[in-house]
Amino acid sequence: MKQVIATAPKELTIVDVPKPELAAGEILVQTLVAGVCGSDLHAIQGLHPFVPLPYKPGHEVVGIIREIAPDVDGFSIGDRITVEPDLPCWDCKNCKNGNENLCERLQFFGCGYPQSGMSEFWTLSARRAHKVPDSFTDEAASLIEPLSTPIHAMKLASLGSKDLSGKTVVILGCGTIGLLTLVAAKYFNAKTIVMTDLLPNKRERALRLGADAVLDAGLAGVVDDVRALLGDSADVVFDCVALQPTVNQAIALADKGGTVVIVGVPEKDVSVPLPIIQDHQIRIQGSATYLPSDFKDAITLLGSGALDVKEFVTAVFPWEQTQEAFESALLGDQVKVLIRFS
Ligand SMILES: [Zn+2]
Ligand SMILES: [Zn+2]
Repeated sequence: MKQVIATAPKELTIVDVPKPELAAGEILVQTLVAGVCGSDLHAIQGLHPFVPLPYKPGHEVVGIIREIAPDVDGFSIGDRITVEPDLPCWDCKNCKNGNENLCERLQFFGCGYPQSGMSEFWTLSARRAHKVPDSFTDEAASLIEPLSTPIHAMKLASLGSKDLSGKTVVILGCGTIGLLTLVAAKYFNAKTIVMTDLLPNKRERALRLGADAVLDAGLAGVVDDVRALLGDSADVVFDCVALQPTVNQAIALADKGGTVVIVGVPEKDVSVPLPIIQDHQIRIQGSATYLPSDFKDAITLLGSGALDVKEFVTAVFPWEQTQEAFESALLGDQVKVLIRFS
């Protein structure tokens, strides 16, 4: 079968490898589509803090079950599924507490793991598969995993209430995760949502998708301008960029008493004004992937029609053009690039 490997910075190779063998508890899946994630773009450039090159990409994946181990219940051959790609040990403190995204021995399908979704076939624990409703297109189904990330962040921001009613929200970054965060924040009833980005075309898309206002992240007075639009400090700032300038802005916007949620994957350390964070009681909240309940909420949100799939899946390439697909995604003018395998 064909398998995509990121071998050197910005270089993808397609190799022939044996089809994987089914183990106990597993399903064997044939890929329909796999999405190119922001974390893949970091990793293929050698910029991901935890995924060194070479690696086998593909964790946003939709496929058809072709084989099922005898001990697996709840799935049938031919079911269309998507994958919750974190692979926990199920045995550590966090796994036992239902926080398997924070597993002490976490592996991640498609991120430094021997198998990956940008392959014709792969095997995976059936515990990590989620059935896709028949009414969903493959394109819509490919958004379940990326949408689960901001849904998890919403729950952390709202301390589990899933309700942002009356809250002012700022989202830094109008890329894929920023826009999905916008959709999720609207779904959870945020009162006002202001977004920033350096690029005008990304800001325009955010406005089209329902942001109340958008501002140029590069303007010197952007923090004051956002605060003026909100009429106050921000209750929650979602930093979907996570570089020093956006972290500075996020903390200034949340000052006083607000919450900063780090949603984007930071490339490196930043410094923070710790005296301000302490004295002004600012909460800095990391948000790491998702849990099964977030996948269920993502499926419900997508099923409600609250997300316009065409605004998100902006390009689909056949697997033979994987290199072109990644190059297109790297240019930054696509929202979600998919690669179709079958
Ligand atoms: Zn992803
Ligand atoms: Zn664990």
